[in-house]
Amino acid sequence: MDIQSTLKTPLKGKCHCGKIEFELSCNLNDLKRCNCSHCRRKGFVMTTVKLNEFKLVSGDKFLKIYQWNTKIAKHYFCKNCGVNTHHQRRSKPDEYGVNVGCLDGFNMDWIENIKYTEGIKFSLEDKSNMDASIFEG
Ligand SMILES: [Zn+2]
Repeated sequence: MDIQSTLKTPLKGKCHCGKIEFELSCNLNDLKRCNCSHCRRKGFVMTTVKLNEFKLVSGDKFLKIYQWNTKIAKHYFCKNCGVNTHHQRRSKPDEYGVNVGCLDGFNMDWIENIKYTEGIKFSLEDKSNMDASIFEG
């Protein structure tokens, strides 16, 4: 199935409760999972967008940011329903990774073979005396 021709831009997305709504002015791009300590817990597949391709439509006051470790990456989630919608990357601050499960019309069957990116290897922290659960970010 050709995903790109199935979903029309702007791609629309929302959190579970619908307080946070957003639009992407681009096609799906560079779909991937990440194996860093945070993403492995969330488990979602993300699409890559430039910051200016992401538009928050509503829900500004429900958007919370989770940060840890280097406190550079910004992991946004809905404080009402808890769904992670997108995050600003530490490795590429001009990009967001957006949770494809939040996109209207996205079929989860499309992502069965999406590869993991090695986020855990990009950690800036000394791992020798730390719990492996707090790497990356
Ligand atoms: Zn929500």
